[in-house]
Amino acid sequence: MEALACADHPTATELYETLKEKYPALSRGTVFRVLSQFADEGKISRLGSADGSVRYDAGKIPHAHAQCLRCGKIRDLFGDEYAAVLNTKLPDGFTVYSSRIEYLGLCGECAESGNN
Ligand SMILES: [Zn+2]
Ligand SMILES: [Zn+2]
Repeated sequence: MEALACADHPTATELYETLKEKYPALSRGTVFRVLSQFADEGKISRLGSADGSVRYDAGKIPHAHAQCLRCGKIRDLFGDEYAAVLNTKLPDGFTVYSSRIEYLGLCGECAESGNN
């Protein structure tokens, strides 16, 4: 969890590479399994990515993401608006494990660099 909180929306592989330096005995399978379990339990969120990889986010404060479809950069967006949307009244008895808002598009740098 700690490693995840320090990283910027890592993929399981990226997180594994980071952890491996500190815990050489750690297996890749363990990292994948734990991440997947945490995500299923709603402790962390699972994000899709423009390149098809799965990224993880330990952000506890509800937030939205703006992701660039070209370079894959993900930015966090915080604000009362997002918290409000994420706290939308749900059907009675509905338990939320996770929720997410994603904006997909081009980041400023990519948009500026032209060619569509
Ligand atoms: Zn970009
Ligand atoms: Zn995030």
